[in-house]
Amino acid sequence: MENEIEILIAALKNNHYHPVVCVEKAASAVPLLLDWIPPDASIEGAGSASVLQVGILDKLRERGNRFSEPGAELTETGATRKDVLLVSTNAVTLDGKFVNIDGMGNRVTGMVYGVRRVILLVGANKIVRDVPEALERVQQVISPFHARRLGMKTPCAATGACSDCNAPHRICNITTIISKRPPSVDFSVIISKEDLGLGWDPSWPAERIERIQTAYGDEMDKFLSTLPKRE
Ligand code: SF4
Repeated sequence: MENEIEILIAALKNNHYHPVVCVEKAASAVPLLLDWIPPDASIEGAGSASVLQVGILDKLRERGNRFSEPGAELTETGATRKDVLLVSTNAVTLDGKFVNIDGMGNRVTGMVYGVRRVILLVGANKIVRDVPEALERVQQVISPFHARRLGMKTPCAATGACSDCNAPHRICNITTIISKRPPSVDFSVIISKEDLGLGWDPSWPAERIERIQTAYGDEMDKFLSTLPKRE
């Protein structure tokens, strides 16, 4: 893994992301984020499990950052351009491409345009070899698990497998591959050697997969309990 992370960091720097920082423990991302994000910045987190897991949101709120989640509007100033998007990625390839599959598009559009600064928090479990591996993993493994965990009305939530459905609540409507840093966005990346968020390969040891799923599930349960019920 050490070697993979070194290769990835070099690739991300070559792809014009700055800064690119690696932390041993996910919790070490917190002081970096508090330093990088101005106290008066408006932030969108898009419900990222990785962000929830490091426990940064309360600290940002306590010091006065305005924070919005999907479906929630900022309550002040009517700002349409968020200062910071703080999220993760579904997968990152060894040559530094970010691969995401999104339902509404709020997460992926913010990564490429309309937000002043993007900060990605990426666990080692999100690293994949290349784009085909990323797409296969996210579509066939991660999205069905995510849909099932959220209780979505999709075929994969019932079966655990993707059928490339046409369901009204399909969660895989927009696929993006960010090859290099989008030019209008300041884009920083924190790589955590600890796993964070939803990402695994089915060939990994069962204990590691279970740990990832449990950590994700615990945080999402807490997060979802704060949202209005969806039909
Ligand atoms: S395309 Fe449909 S079945 Fe496949 S993962 Fe997405 S929501 Fe599930």
